[in-house]
Amino acid sequence: MFDISIELSTKTIKRLYYYSVIVFLFLNMEIKSWKEKFVKINEFSIVIVLFFQFSFSQNEIDKGFLYLDRFIPNIVFDLRYATVDNFTGKIVEGYENVRPVSTIEMGKALEKVQFYLEERGLGLKIFDVYRPQKAVNYFFKWSKVRADTLMKSKYYPNEKKENLFKNGYISKLSGHSRGSSVDLTIIYLLGEKAGEEIDMGSSWDYFGEKSSISTTKINLIQQKNRLILKNLMEMFGFIPYKKEWWHFTLKDEPFPNKYFDFSTN
Ligand SMILES: [Zn+2]
Repeated sequence: MFDISIELSTKTIKRLYYYSVIVFLFLNMEIKSWKEKFVKINEFSIVIVLFFQFSFSQNEIDKGFLYLDRFIPNIVFDLRYATVDNFTGKIVEGYENVRPVSTIEMGKALEKVQFYLEERGLGLKIFDVYRPQKAVNYFFKWSKVRADTLMKSKYYPNEKKENLFKNGYISKLSGHSRGSSVDLTIIYLLGEKAGEEIDMGSSWDYFGEKSSISTTKINLIQQKNRLILKNLMEMFGFIPYKKEWWHFTLKDEPFPNKYFDFSTN
């Protein structure tokens, strides 16, 4: 199993111990008895090691997950909830200093999709992957504040804010919090259009009929592009979401009933 958790190695712990002994001796020159010194040194170094262990543990993510930007460095990430350019108009709670994280199983599936696309001069661009439950709760709180419609014209011009939950664009429990849902599109990797998204007819998180996979409110090329993405993702084990062309969930997800809330930074 690919394990990405970060722990202090024995070598680092030894080093920290020696440093703390030196610092302790320097700061406590007045203690004369070696026995007393030995006891105090041990206490002091335990505190130092625990402090570092705690600091490092801030970088840990749950077992069964991986950092997607490290696992597939070629993918382009545009994590909009970590910016003000999303439907709430603010950096979403839980996305401060965010890193893209997914379950190991979804990471491996996305690696295959990316490889398949790269051979054809294309690649993936990811807008959102693992989403802590606190972010989903934040969306719910936001939906209750009727007056806050800062980003309406860009993200939900024809939908009432209070209907975004009812109409299935946001939900109280999201597959993203299970670590096996992803929002993505395809980009060109070569030529003049390198870095550009292929034309899908509506942008990510545009909440409205125009974003459903089978809509006829977009032109034929756009309809075809959505089908290409849908078929591609299905080929690699993902289930599409009919209301949002960009949203996919891994069919054999490892945590189908678990909603995580760990931080990724
Ligand atoms: Zn999504």
